[in-house]
Amino acid sequence: MARMPVVFFGHGSPMIALETNATTRRWAATAARIEREYGRPRAILCISAHWMTQGIAVTAMAAPRTIHDFGAFPQTLFDVQYPAPGDPALAARVRDLIAPMPVALDHSEWGLDHGTWSVLCKAYPNADMPVVQLSMDASRDAGYHYDIGRRLLPLRDEGVLIVGTGNIVHNLRRMDFYNRNAAPFDWAMRFNDHVRNAILTDTPGSAIEYAALGRDAQESVPDPDHYWPLLYVLGARDIGDAVEFGPDHIEHGSLSMTSILLAPSVH
Ligand code: ZN
Repeated sequence: MARMPVVFFGHGSPMIALETNATTRRWAATAARIEREYGRPRAILCISAHWMTQGIAVTAMAAPRTIHDFGAFPQTLFDVQYPAPGDPALAARVRDLIAPMPVALDHSEWGLDHGTWSVLCKAYPNADMPVVQLSMDASRDAGYHYDIGRRLLPLRDEGVLIVGTGNIVHNLRRMDFYNRNAAPFDWAMRFNDHVRNAILTDTPGSAIEYAALGRDAQESVPDPDHYWPLLYVLGARDIGDAVEFGPDHIEHGSLSMTSILLAPSVH
């Protein structure tokens, strides 16, 4: 079995689940390329910006529910279901990989949140691949999240596609809600470029120590929830993974859609 790539999706507004556009087509193309070149993943392990907990949890139910974890959106978005099966055996494997740090097997609380399904409903619209979500411990720092990602690396040789879903730049307060094509803020472009460069040069330290960028970092990452999933993806990177960006742009002035495929170049 070929080693699986690792993917980070910049996920945008949940409304994208109702759209077909250049971004959703690129997500689907990424999924198709993975299947063509590396085979069909056995399961997906997803780290979403929208599941922060005290301690770490992993979804361990056989049939995770679709969670509509947002407020003022149209009923059609609440009607979206993503009925992918769970994978309790994978949940147990994740717990074992992360040990001795404790991981709670979640049988009833969570499910698949919109960080996960708003992307997967485009990348894997048939919802027939098992999906497990891993939560992020809200009390920990960036280096810890990167380290958990490193512990997940062996899953890539077990047919598991590791997916992070969040945004490199995510500032809702500064965002131009009604203009997707608003010019990106200077600080957003600088920060996005800095992180892209850290990925291109495989210097994860400067992505982990992003706060050193001062105001650019404070504006781009006012809260870490959407940034941290990237650190899991970078943690699961290995020598020899080639980097590909796409989609790769900033929407609404302060929302980076930059997505990253880290894929073994020899397979
Ligand atoms: Zn989000």
